[in-house]
Amino acid sequence: MPINKEKYQQILQELNGKATLVAVSKTKSIEDIQELYNLGQRDFGENYVQELIEKEAALPKDIRWHFIGHLQSNKVKYIAPFIHLIHGIDTLALLKEVNKQASKYNRTMACLLQIYIAKEETKFGLTEDELETILNNSEFSQLKNVKIAGFMGMASFSNDTKLIKKEFNYLKLLFNKNNNLPIINSQLLILSMGMSADYKIALEEGSNMVRIGSLLFGKRD
Ligand SMILES: *Cc1c(COP(=O)(O)O)cnc(C)c1O
Repeated sequence: MPINKEKYQQILQELNGKATLVAVSKTKSIEDIQELYNLGQRDFGENYVQELIEKEAALPKDIRWHFIGHLQSNKVKYIAPFIHLIHGIDTLALLKEVNKQASKYNRTMACLLQIYIAKEETKFGLTEDELETILNNSEFSQLKNVKIAGFMGMASFSNDTKLIKKEFNYLKLLFNKNNNLPIINSQLLILSMGMSADYKIALEEGSNMVRIGSLLFGKRD
């Protein structure tokens, strides 16, 4: 399926340099990704480790790959050499594994903590209490090869604009409240929220990184 060039330009204009566009290419072909790359896009997001490593091997090396799915600890090692940003960290155990793998490559890996903001049980993420527990854990402050670069959240899958706005607003407030993290090199700079259906609301609520798939690449099967 050809990518939607008009939509791409329109979204870039809407973001106006104030938010980063992560083009979510999961399930999409190498050719589709290359086409968007040729228009200048460099940030791409993927959900599945196997798919990501195949694409990374086949595509230009200056692509910044974002892992936006639910990452299993035993798969961190496959993406550790090249991943640019991991969006979905939701346990200390996972963060420790990322730290371990990053140290093997002498890297400092940038991560976002995923916060639970939706009204649905199906979405992953930390509650505010769980976030506090991690931030106050002494092991957390000793991780040297990861840095927490911000938060990520997914709003409810709903037509209720007010609800979505409220959920994004909650995340923005939590983000503002936590700008003094007890971990080396960490500073909350990135607030990753907003997808095809709700990115405009997310931008109104202070998002500076949106993850957009279907508007650019068409519907997924
Ligand atoms: C698939 C996915 C997106 C993109 O969804 P679209 O509705 O196609 O824009 C964004 N974020 C995450 C975490 C996803 O899994």
